[in-house]
Amino acid sequence: MERKNAWLSYDKKQKKELYTLGEDYRVFLSKGKTERECVDLSVAEAEKAGYISLEKAIAAGKKLKAGDKIYATIMGKCMALFTIGKEPMEKGMNILGAHIDSPRLDLKQNPLYEDTDQALLDTHYYGGIKKYQWVALPLALHGVVAKKDGSVVKVCIGEDPKDPVVGITDLLPHLAANQMNKPAAKIIEGEDLNVLIGSEKVAEEKPKKEGEEPKASVLKNIKAILKDGYGIEEEDFISAEIEVVPAGPARDFGLDRSMIMGYGHDDRICAYTSLVAMLKVKKPKRTSCCLLVDKEEIGSVGATGMHSLFFENTVAEIMALMGEKSDLALRRALANSRMLSSDVSAAYDPNFPSVNEKKNTAYMGRGLVFNKYTGSRGKGGSNDCSAEYMAYVRRVMDEAGVFWQTAELGKVDEGGGGTIAYIAGNYGMNVVDAGIAVLSMHAPWELASKADIYEAVKGYEAFLLAE
Ligand code: MN
Ligand code: MN
Repeated sequence: MERKNAWLSYDKKQKKELYTLGEDYRVFLSKGKTERECVDLSVAEAEKAGYISLEKAIAAGKKLKAGDKIYATIMGKCMALFTIGKEPMEKGMNILGAHIDSPRLDLKQNPLYEDTDQALLDTHYYGGIKKYQWVALPLALHGVVAKKDGSVVKVCIGEDPKDPVVGITDLLPHLAANQMNKPAAKIIEGEDLNVLIGSEKVAEEKPKKEGEEPKASVLKNIKAILKDGYGIEEEDFISAEIEVVPAGPARDFGLDRSMIMGYGHDDRICAYTSLVAMLKVKKPKRTSCCLLVDKEEIGSVGATGMHSLFFENTVAEIMALMGEKSDLALRRALANSRMLSSDVSAAYDPNFPSVNEKKNTAYMGRGLVFNKYTGSRGKGGSNDCSAEYMAYVRRVMDEAGVFWQTAELGKVDEGGGGTIAYIAGNYGMNVVDAGIAVLSMHAPWELASKADIYEAVKGYEAFLLAE
């Protein structure tokens, strides 16, 4: 049962569409390096496509009807879009759910310090990273600083080609005899992920006596740069969210430009393709929904993660604007929904063949990947969708001519992982994981195929429109 490679099927027109979509995604991924930036970009796209904010709709007492487009956000980090269907909401929605947080380094609350004529920022890593991959590469600072006066300063340093970059140093091989004998998890330890941001020493004050060395520091200059450039005092780091991410744009990859290398494919590649599919849907029979959530990489917790009541509350608000305020109707709408948990799969890597079982592995270029179950150690923590639902999505994909494949994450007992699927499953809805195969997943620069991006949009759109 080998699945076909999608590349062979394309005519000239499809290839043109495929490369245009790839370029649009490359630009999105280059700009959206934090969950907040992804929400901002997605809100802009949605508003351009005629979506209005739930807040405004409530304030205006708007009555929602079929064909209306509405979106909601929470804390600027999580978003839900809806296109109201012709059928009552109680019959359920067709939902695409992806996450827009990616592994990275976050600045600590008290990050700034000086050590032997270097100014550094202390970090706490976020999500599952191989720490040794984050040294000796250009890094950028993205995020916000919230000040006591209520203002919020956006920070983005290291993306404009004229910007400086920052980074974490590594040990030279000449002196790494001990380091190289350590297990990979210990080569670079979490507490050693300190970002070098300056080295120019400046006088703190004039010397008291003639001929005396002035008191000097690197931090004085760095603090002045932060103050002059951004109006940030050192204390403002206490109420900041600054993410340290790989600097520079996503790039076409391969001599044939068939792939994209970028930071945060997991899971912005599924978020973007879900959003594109969502914006294409005009007058669906069932209400369409696209969810872009935060905090998946650390367990989907907190107000902006999939475990929060944001989604449920938003559906309740929307149903209220349609004149349906009963709790039972809300429960039915959720239970009768169908969802694709749009999250990436690990692509087969010929450099590491031993971790996969070849029949049940995702391959780059073979289209949208369906994972009936995820989890680890005997499917632990997995949603494991029903056979009947799997049959349903097979039919929808085949009828739309989508290239798709099935996979699990590695061979049995090799490892594993989870997604947001099981959380949506708690409502009693049918949900299966469906995403794009990625190489070097969770590395600072990940790889994906443009053909798979193209097939994902086709598959997601077909799913949203399915009756
Ligand atoms: Mn993911
Ligand atoms: Mn991940």
